[in-house]
Amino acid sequence: MILDLLQKNGTVVGALGIDTRQDKVYIFQAKAVLLGTGKCSRLYPPLTPGWLFNDPHGGTQTGDGRAMAYRAGAELQNLEMPQRHIGPKYFTKFGQATWVGVVRDWEGKPIGTFTDKPDPRYGDMICEVDKLAPEKYHQAGRGPVYMDCRGIREEDLQYMNHWMVHEGNVSLLDHIMEEDIELRKHPVEFATYPLRGGGLIVANEKSEASLTGLYSAGDESFGDIAAAATFGYIGGENAAGYVLNVQETDVEENRSRIEDKKEMMKRIRGQSIGPDWKEANVALQQTMQDYAGKVRNESLLLQGLHHVRRLKDKAGQSLMAQNPHELGRCLEVLNMLDIGELTFLLALDRKETRNLHVRPDYSYTDPRLNKAHIISQTDGKIKVEWRDY
Ligand SMILES: Cc1cc2nc3c(=O)[nH]c(=O)nc-3n(C[C@H](O)[C@H](O)[C@H](O)COP(=O)(O)OP(=O)(O)OC[C@H]3O[C@@H](n4cnc5c(N)ncnc54)[C@H](O)[C@@H]3O)c2cc1C
Repeated sequence: MILDLLQKNGTVVGALGIDTRQDKVYIFQAKAVLLGTGKCSRLYPPLTPGWLFNDPHGGTQTGDGRAMAYRAGAELQNLEMPQRHIGPKYFTKFGQATWVGVVRDWEGKPIGTFTDKPDPRYGDMICEVDKLAPEKYHQAGRGPVYMDCRGIREEDLQYMNHWMVHEGNVSLLDHIMEEDIELRKHPVEFATYPLRGGGLIVANEKSEASLTGLYSAGDESFGDIAAAATFGYIGGENAAGYVLNVQETDVEENRSRIEDKKEMMKRIRGQSIGPDWKEANVALQQTMQDYAGKVRNESLLLQGLHHVRRLKDKAGQSLMAQNPHELGRCLEVLNMLDIGELTFLLALDRKETRNLHVRPDYSYTDPRLNKAHIISQTDGKIKVEWRDY
């Protein structure tokens, strides 16, 4: 697991990592680094709050890349703009477009206007058009809603199952089989999933981030599968071209930073009493949900910022890991605490309502803010700015 970037005068010169099976630190000397570490999903509580890893993204999406990029001085963007998705209730899994069914209410009435029978060409577009639809139905006292595959043709069922396997939904299909759920007979409850962290590492069309030698691809900077494949390729190629013409910098010039990090990890591993990563993660998720959740306002955000900073201090001093695996989990939580703090700062600065950033104290969308909202730091001094797309 990579935990930090090493940089010298605004140029990336390597990275620091740990073995999550044994107590071992790795120092990488590198002329360029490409981050492809995914999103920041575990920032908000999952649909089943007791089960931290019941997360459609998978448990390792903890904003590590963006947190280490920020600490090294790179620019991040729009972290305060959360996202939501839709899918099977409680067994939270993406892949809504692969379902060949109709989303219906209790009475069997389609909740969208796109289809009234299972159609393999489009599925039910309501899942794309309005991911909040199940939640709105619930709030209006009209829930639950279902993905209803009844009436599906046998060949279309096979087609759907085939592509569910290919998109990684094997565990969902296993569960359907284990529970004797017959999709041709049993509608499956669907839900709007909770908030998940938004934003990205600022990167250009060459996948270059704002630090020399730093590249970022996939969900860290662009989002979704096509961009992950394309910008992984583009970033890799550009990084390979870049390293041909630069001198390597001795990572030893970062020795004091390396020793600080080693000391921090030694402290976490050495504690015999204290909160574990789960406690800290749950506390952070609770804070994000309650203070930077579906509705936000100035005083709520200020209070939440205070809480998250307090948590960050406390976790930094008292987190405990009983083994190298738990150390990795602790480092993830520390990264999310950084991202949580930045989310509050940007949410406070975005004085408008836009998409899922809902601020009743600024209830209109401000067209002057159709811009990228950027945050960066140099030597701990934070800079927030708006920049044209
Ligand atoms: C079930 C499902 C269905 C989907 N369907 C679609 C779809 O239909 N269309 C679409 O466009 N997208 C879809 N997506 C989203 C798409 O899969 C992602 O956008 C894409 O995989 C992102 O690729 P990535 O390489 O950026 O990140 P990921 O594939 O998330 O890879 C990130 C990797 O970084 C590793 N990592 C994280 N932190 C560290 C660290 N500190 N050190 C070392 N390694 C680290 C992780 O373990 C992981 O292996 C779907 C996702 C799921 C789960």
